[in-house]
Amino acid sequence: MVRIERLETFVIGDGPGIDPDKGGVEPLACLRVQTDAGITGLSEVFRVPPGVVQATVGDRNTHFGRLLIGQTLTHPERLWQHVWDSLIHTNRRGWEIIILGALDVALWDIYGQMLGQPVWQLLGGVQRGPFQTHAETCTQRVTPYCTIVSDVWGGEAMFTQQTRRVADLLELGYRAFKIEPMMSTPADVVELARRTRKLLGPEPTLMVDVGYLFNDVPTVARICRELEALDIYFFETPFPVDSPVPYARLAELTSIPLAMGEHGVTRWEFLDMLERGRVSVMQPYMTTCGGLTEAKRIVDLAVTRGALVCPGNWSTQILGTASVHLAAYSPVTPFIEFAAAEVFESPLRRELQEHGLPIVNGEIAFPQTPGIGYQLPADLIDRYRMG
Ligand SMILES: [Mg+2]
Repeated sequence: MVRIERLETFVIGDGPGIDPDKGGVEPLACLRVQTDAGITGLSEVFRVPPGVVQATVGDRNTHFGRLLIGQTLTHPERLWQHVWDSLIHTNRRGWEIIILGALDVALWDIYGQMLGQPVWQLLGGVQRGPFQTHAETCTQRVTPYCTIVSDVWGGEAMFTQQTRRVADLLELGYRAFKIEPMMSTPADVVELARRTRKLLGPEPTLMVDVGYLFNDVPTVARICRELEALDIYFFETPFPVDSPVPYARLAELTSIPLAMGEHGVTRWEFLDMLERGRVSVMQPYMTTCGGLTEAKRIVDLAVTRGALVCPGNWSTQILGTASVHLAAYSPVTPFIEFAAAEVFESPLRRELQEHGLPIVNGEIAFPQTPGIGYQLPADLIDRYRMG
């Protein structure tokens, strides 16, 4: 057994004034958990202000240091429960659960190295039934879908920029794409989807994300009616984030699967999406949702209700590598989200992707190295360090 000895944080980014719409990496807190056996675990903390992470993850006097330093790692779930129970009177479903999620990924990383196994094996191994012949192709590889954004929203400039990025990535061998007609008119949403499907042809997978663009069900139902002919794999977040009820109403009016959950935390919020929202594609981030421990529980809930879990990740391949481990375990994860560095203006994103799992013909082979298996070189941290 190993004992947790130290928690360390650092902040990396593409520099001040970076534009995330151009794919830049904003100041991103990362953390390392160190043990007395010399094994360390790595993770990143997406969308929590780095100062909050630095103030709460550190020595024994910090919020999380007090809870974890000195603990023995017998199983990541035990420490998850220990920390979660200790947060009952504090911030819980705010930044606390996201930081717990990041720590959990680092603990799984250590646990895998301790036992000499890739994390997906320890989550339960490949959960695919012997009768599910269609799933055979998912027993060794994970398929990333590329999220496409533009610097401008609506109209010709958006169409041109997003379709060009899709064309470039298709050329590189990627097979699945999610366009993002945000802050656009209903006509522009349909037009971008039409142009993209025309460019792709019938085979590649196409998703559409409108980023909380509408409030009313009838407007979105009309858009979905036009999208039906374009073979859209899922339609993401048409309504504001807090209520899953409009999703349930819309699900009765369209055959296009609806997706949500990028901000979702804990299995309880995902249960609400499943039960009240009738959502068929859930999109937890492997850190934000509460870690791999919680993501596995979300997969298990989805299986009992016939839903899919396609992990979200508009962050780096430090997080993306954790998504691959969940997808290898999960029988309901045909795709994971991927912010392909090839089409964005971000030196850091590119370098982090180069150190991640290789993508061959648009697919990622299940990792075989113990733990999560992401190595972050010290010189890279030095060059992009922002805190
Ligand atoms: Mg989204």
